[in-house]
Amino acid sequence: MSHPHPELQKPPRLPKNGLRVVGLGGLGEIGRNMTVFEHHGKLLIVDCGVLFPEEHQPGIDVILPDFSWIRDRLDSVVGLVLTHGHEDHIGGVPYLLRERADIPVIGSRLTLALIREKLKEHRIVPKLHEVSEGDRKPYGPFDLEFLAVNHSIPDGLAVGIRTSAGTVLHTGDFKMDQFPLDRRITDLRGFARLGEEGVDLFLTDSTNAEVPGFTMSERDLAPAIEQVFRTAPRRIIVSSFASHVHRIQQVLDTSHAHGRKVAFVGRSMVRNMGVAQELGYLKVPKGLIVPLDQLEKLPAHKATLVCTGSQGEPMAALARMANRDHKIRVGEGDTILMASSAVPGNENAISGLINNLSRWGAQVVHKGNAKVHVSGHASAGELVYCYNIVKPRNVMPVHGEWRHLKANADLAIATGVPEDHVVIAEDGVVVDLVEGHAKIVGKVRAGNVYVDAQTVGGATEATLKDRRTLAEEGVVTVLAIVDADTGTLADPPDFLVRGFVHEPNAFDPAVQVIEKTLARAAAEGIGDPQQLEQLLSREIGRWAHRAFRRSPLIIPLVIDA
Ligand SMILES: [Zn+2]
Repeated sequence: MSHPHPELQKPPRLPKNGLRVVGLGGLGEIGRNMTVFEHHGKLLIVDCGVLFPEEHQPGIDVILPDFSWIRDRLDSVVGLVLTHGHEDHIGGVPYLLRERADIPVIGSRLTLALIREKLKEHRIVPKLHEVSEGDRKPYGPFDLEFLAVNHSIPDGLAVGIRTSAGTVLHTGDFKMDQFPLDRRITDLRGFARLGEEGVDLFLTDSTNAEVPGFTMSERDLAPAIEQVFRTAPRRIIVSSFASHVHRIQQVLDTSHAHGRKVAFVGRSMVRNMGVAQELGYLKVPKGLIVPLDQLEKLPAHKATLVCTGSQGEPMAALARMANRDHKIRVGEGDTILMASSAVPGNENAISGLINNLSRWGAQVVHKGNAKVHVSGHASAGELVYCYNIVKPRNVMPVHGEWRHLKANADLAIATGVPEDHVVIAEDGVVVDLVEGHAKIVGKVRAGNVYVDAQTVGGATEATLKDRRTLAEEGVVTVLAIVDADTGTLADPPDFLVRGFVHEPNAFDPAVQVIEKTLARAAAEGIGDPQQLEQLLSREIGRWAHRAFRRSPLIIPLVIDA
């Protein structure tokens, strides 16, 4: 198995008949999936998603892949393939198209409808190329073939990429539900046909590689959903991902069967379900869906709400209901059906949400107490099947944290792929396929790009460090009026303290520290207020650490007397 070396350097020139593969996101993390292929001077991008921030990244809206490696070569991009419509695959597209708007965006009907709506909000009119399973179409030196895959959103595609350096098969996100609601199963016959022809590099979804066996069918949830509708005395409030058309279809059908009307709540839910219904992916019995104000006039046992917020997102409908910050008041007798699982990192938020909802007297049905969720990703059993069907020459696991990539690599090796033909790469690692062998050859920049209050890249790691310091250690502002000529304080300094020790006299000893620092600076001829502020920040910081074992953010303001 080939691992990226920590001291990897800039990659060498790509050999004339080689294919270069660089994951700019999604390798070593769950989210912001983006893979770039380079061949004969042209680039093909597969997916461009976002990653959602964790608790240690306060104030960040989303995290984008770093485009700097391709920024100077955007004119060479022949297309952007979107495998499906999830945010971690399409969320970064507006930011990429801001840099070059006319990149052909290639995807299935539903995926393109979702990205078109998203781009409208960013006032971008994209160049969309609709494709469906079975289509084969060249883009520059890349001959693309699209294959149906089943996932937790309809209309997913895997992509076969034929080049003169070899053939790649990229699964996107997928599972192998044999009884999906739309009867559109993962095209294993297509996988086998490509395998027969020869797949030189196989990129596979690693999300569930650690999970043994097979992922259950979406239809297996029907009994638990039915149970909720049969027993709920009053309102039913269902939370789900706003893109999980088939999960919501099951809720609609069951609601209909039990004589309940349904209202959608939450902007993305209303928008996506509108798109899905219009295109025929969501089948809605006549008169079933009503506006929220109309639903509120019905008796409680006739009402179902379908809303966003299954991940505990604080601004989404469900969390606002739980915090009594929404016109829907959750109360005694309501049943909440959380038809989803936790995305890693959201467990605490979801647990808090369940507690809040329970406090108001609601019955909460979730993955932990009923069979109300199945994963959208292939488990180890399905992955092994795929390796045996495709018989790839080289394997590169994608979409996963290190543990998932490693587990997926081990599965490939177990099916007989030679160890030195299995590549584990993290974001930015450059993999070249040359003469049938995929190898790590270098590394390019692939850091986090933060979107913060609508600005891209404005917040940096340093900003986040300041925010964490503010949150954990507090802040001390020191106002010092200084006579620059003598290096003495013209007045006693003022200390403004937030989130730190509030003892009135706690800072008395710091006055001495300030006086000493100013005297030393004057002796060395340092009188510039900015330089003095830097010195004071360091010295007061050291003193605070000695005195309190804490490191608050120190902001000195030096004013010339
Ligand atoms: Zn997905």
